[in-house]
Amino acid sequence: MNALIVGNWKMNGTAASAAALAGSLASRLTKPRRFDMLICPPAPLLAAARSAIGAAPLALGAQDCHAQPQGAHTGDVSVPMLVDAGCSHVIVGHSERRSGHGEGDSLVRAKAAAAQAGGLVPVICVGETLEQRDAGANVGAVTGQLAGSLPDGSSAATAIIAYEPVWAIGTGRTPAMNDIAEIHAAIRGALRDSVPDPHLARILYGGSVNPRNARDILSLDDVDGALVGGASLAADQFWEIAESCP
Ligand code: PEP
Repeated sequence: MNALIVGNWKMNGTAASAAALAGSLASRLTKPRRFDMLICPPAPLLAAARSAIGAAPLALGAQDCHAQPQGAHTGDVSVPMLVDAGCSHVIVGHSERRSGHGEGDSLVRAKAAAAQAGGLVPVICVGETLEQRDAGANVGAVTGQLAGSLPDGSSAATAIIAYEPVWAIGTGRTPAMNDIAEIHAAIRGALRDSVPDPHLARILYGGSVNPRNARDILSLDDVDGALVGGASLAADQFWEIAESCP
């Protein structure tokens, strides 16, 4: 199975810059690689990215979705809209949604289930806070979030897990390699109870991944790719991360 390298562009860019970034990545994906690549622009920039991707094997995803397919939900974006925009994936439960928008596990699970029902693969984010880590509660926090956020009936083909320690996102700090390995192994273990094919499930690491640390992180057991924020906004850096896949 190829590693999956995901770019979370967060709330950055314009139609012109989205087209330039997506086009630059698409133009490099001319031959089979050791990785699959997915970019997640802000919703208003999906169309620009989609047309820049053309026929290249560069997947398009969104950063969030509503749990309902349509209706009176001002400012929200539905799964059918994202499918219509050319998406195949959607991030749900990112810590910036959990903390900035008060999203808890049950809502994340509902969004992930809506994504699956509508034909998108959710990238379900879990991760401990600094307080939880300092209290030695990181494994329990992460497996607890996973249990609460992963819809019943999920499989490796219909759900991707991203482990993102909250304190590592956008901070330049990363856990020790053995800590990342421990949490990924714990997630894999938890998936044995909840999906039929846990060995095939993709478990991504996210949190201050950059071209300097990517090789070490991506070489760890049970790390099947990366979710990259800041470093996904520059094509060369993001590409270098992807090329670091063993
Ligand atoms: C993210 O936004 O999911 C993320 C991991 O950000 P960064 O790579 O900037 O830490």
